[in-house]
Parts: sequence; C-alpha cells; structure tokens
Amino acid sequence: MSSDLRSSIRSIPDYPKPGIVFRDITTLLGDARAFRRAIDELVQPWAGTKVDKVAGIEARGFILGGAVAHQLSAGFVPIRKKGKLPHATVSIAYSLEYGIDEMEMHEDAVAPGERVILVDDLIATGGTATAAVALLKRIGAEVEAACFVIDLPDLGGARKIRDLGVPVRTLMEFAGH
Ligand code: AMP
Repeated sequence: MSSDLRSSIRSIPDYPKPGIVFRDITTLLGDARAFRRAIDELVQPWAGTKVDKVAGIEARGFILGGAVAHQLSAGFVPIRKKGKLPHATVSIAYSLEYGIDEMEMHEDAVAPGERVILVDDLIATGGTATAAVALLKRIGAEVEAACFVIDLPDLGGARKIRDLGVPVRTLMEFAGH
C-alpha cells in the first residue's frame, strides 16, 4: 500500500460521537490519482478472472463498487437501506450499536451461481458486511470475496468474514475505532 493512498484518507476525531475517529474517504475520492489507485489495488486479485456482479453497500460502497464493477467488466448490484428499492426484494435485519436496521436487494439482482464480489469503504465490527454476505448467499450468489479500502482490525470484522469462508481484501489498517 502506498503512503499517498493512506494520506488521502481524512481522519475526523469524535465524529459522529466522542471516542470514534471517522475515516473519511471523500478526500480519497476527490483525488484522481488516489481514487484510481484504490480501485486498481482493490481489483488486482481478480484481474482477468470472471466476476459476474459487484455488490456495493449503501452509500459509499456504491461509489467504489461502481468503479470496481466497471474495471472488472461486471454488473453492479446495490444493497440498500430498507424501503428504497422499487421491485420485489429480499431483506435481512442486522444489529447496530443501538437497535437494529434492515438492508435489501432486488430478489432477481443476482442469479443462482453467479460470482459476486462485495464492496464497501470500511469494515469495523463486520456486522454490515456479515448481513450483506448472508443476503447474497440467500439468493444463491457465490460470494468470491469482500473488499474494503479500510480495515479497523481491532474490531474484528475482517476476521469474522474470513471465518465465513469469504476471502477479504483491504488496502490499509487503522488502529482503534
Ligand atoms: P461495521 O458494520 O461495524 O463493520 O461498520 C461498517 C460500516 O459503518 C461501513 O459501512 C462504514 O462506512 C461505517 N463505519 C464504521 N466505522 C466507521 C469509521 N470509524 N469511519 C467511517 N465509517 C465507519
């Protein structure tokens, strides 16, 4: 990982609440070289392999996932917050720090047996990505890998996803929350 990629992330202490350091990727996205490099590095293990779909998690996963899909000549599938998708959906509830939330995808967005790569900006506890993997598997996807620009390894999310048998690719780590 290049030092310029890491330095393109803006860290904002105590956002959205005290004790959390928010890792802001808008500064990476706004830097043409860093954005291209992040996408190139994310897709590198799958260059030349057949990937049918890239699934991105709302909302930052849409930006990165769309670019990854284009690079791999794959389709793009949005995984959205409940109530946003117009056609028949499958949904899954998952735990947040306070309460639960629900994410959805169109039931026909992935055909059984299609090879899918999941993309989001950051993995922390892994709750969001675990739910997304479960949703994709429920509609018959082969989840080839999960990719994140940033890993917060102290929170154990990447390990959880690997324990599900899904390879995880991340480009950089930050200690703590
Ligand atoms: P988790 O489900 O705990 O793995 O949290 C991952 C989701 O929350 C991702 O969609 C991230 O965008 C967001 N997130 C969690 N922690 C942070 C953080 N420190 N900075 C920026 N985004 C975060």
